[in-house]
Amino acid sequence: MKTRINGDWVVAWLDGKHQVISKGAVVFEDEEIVFVGLQADPNCPVADKVIYASGKIVSPGLINLHCIANLDLQLLKMDSGDGEAFPKPKHFVMNEMEPSIWTDQDFVNSAEFSVATLLKSGSTSFASVTSSATKRWSEAGPEPYALAEASEKMGARAWLAAFFQEGCSYTDTDGSVGIIWDSKKGQSALDKSLDLIKYLKLKDNDILTGFLFPARTDRCSDDLLKETMRQSKQLGGLHVRSHFSEYLTEYTEFKSRNPKRTMIEWLDEVGFLGPNVCLTHCIYIAGHSDTGEEAKNDLSILADSETSVCHCPVVIARAGAVFESFSRYLAAGINMGIGTDTFPPDLIEEIRLAALLNKALKRSRNVGTVEEVYNAITIGGAKALGREDLGRLAVGCKADISVFDLSDLALGAIDDPMRTLIHVATGRDCDTVIVNGKIVVERGLVKGIDESELKGRAQTSWLKYKTGMASWDSRGRDIDSMFPPSISNFKM
Ligand SMILES: [Zn+2]
Repeated sequence: MKTRINGDWVVAWLDGKHQVISKGAVVFEDEEIVFVGLQADPNCPVADKVIYASGKIVSPGLINLHCIANLDLQLLKMDSGDGEAFPKPKHFVMNEMEPSIWTDQDFVNSAEFSVATLLKSGSTSFASVTSSATKRWSEAGPEPYALAEASEKMGARAWLAAFFQEGCSYTDTDGSVGIIWDSKKGQSALDKSLDLIKYLKLKDNDILTGFLFPARTDRCSDDLLKETMRQSKQLGGLHVRSHFSEYLTEYTEFKSRNPKRTMIEWLDEVGFLGPNVCLTHCIYIAGHSDTGEEAKNDLSILADSETSVCHCPVVIARAGAVFESFSRYLAAGINMGIGTDTFPPDLIEEIRLAALLNKALKRSRNVGTVEEVYNAITIGGAKALGREDLGRLAVGCKADISVFDLSDLALGAIDDPMRTLIHVATGRDCDTVIVNGKIVVERGLVKGIDESELKGRAQTSWLKYKTGMASWDSRGRDIDSMFPPSISNFKM
């Protein structure tokens, strides 16, 4: 069956770059795009179904390269909590029999909520991670499997992983963070992660893919990182991702042990770089002003090894940190992707902030351009995931398409639709989402689910999450002093 979308604007992939076609059309047959061009083109194939997208811009499906795929605790730290970790008592970490805050049903609620909100905001592909805040050395329960089920049910293209690590954090009675290292637990967590990859492979569909996710490079030994790369190679160069250099303390602790080399030189020596590797955050490398270390070769090592970097500006800006800088990494030739990492999973808002921070930091209007940040959530993400058939509207590519409605009065008069999309609209202006040739969001609503029922379940699990966190606080604080409201709540 052929479906045609007639858009006021279509972002087509022509001559090696995105180009806007006014009064454009995209035609796809089953899972594949078969035509991109002018509506008036006599070669435009006749379709069985036509979607009229007047006042709308038809974009390649957005690729969220690193997103948290559960109800996100980070929002609790808005405006407070500098240097503080979420409480996770040592007795919970040490006693595997002690139940977690969430039941299996809560994990299912969280997974369905996450996939639905990602799709609604225009992400057709996402590479997810889950929170380790209530877990030990590995995924405790059914979360990645629940994410697979939710993605299959709602039709999202998902890269899924079960995280693993050798160092598991806990909070001490004074609030300080301790780490318990256990290489056997790290190895068995990696084994569990491989089980998930096998499970996804057996499904043999094009929308679910596993990847390897050592949660943080600094919580893994060199041996575990090497083993990860060995497993990736055995699995045909499977995608590998890790949180890397997200915190300044990560950098300073490394430097105290390794004064002569940079963290990137260390990853290079371990062999944890390459075209299938993506480093999320990668903030405090040599040359970042907070390190006081001159730039050295870190960026060229990343570029030469073809390692991708995933920038997540919202989560780090909320924490008062800054990435220096998007344009500096791009100029070095590094493949850049962007992920939302925290809630909301709105890639449009995310890249707007990436652009604005870049301009502010460089004191220049000419950096963090629309084209640069939009490339990061389309072709940059696709390259990082090894899928050049995604992130662009071209013949032969997968029919992954996000349509944004720019007709609302609040979006103003339109001069340049891409400028309106990136600097005025938000993910909530997403109208239609197509993944692998299937319509999964229509008129802004996720197909096949009851959104208000899902929001109710998410709200119930959220309250359990927050009160559970408070019950873990060893300093006996009440919930409002742990997580202060944004402004005072009136009480009689
Ligand atoms: Zn993250």
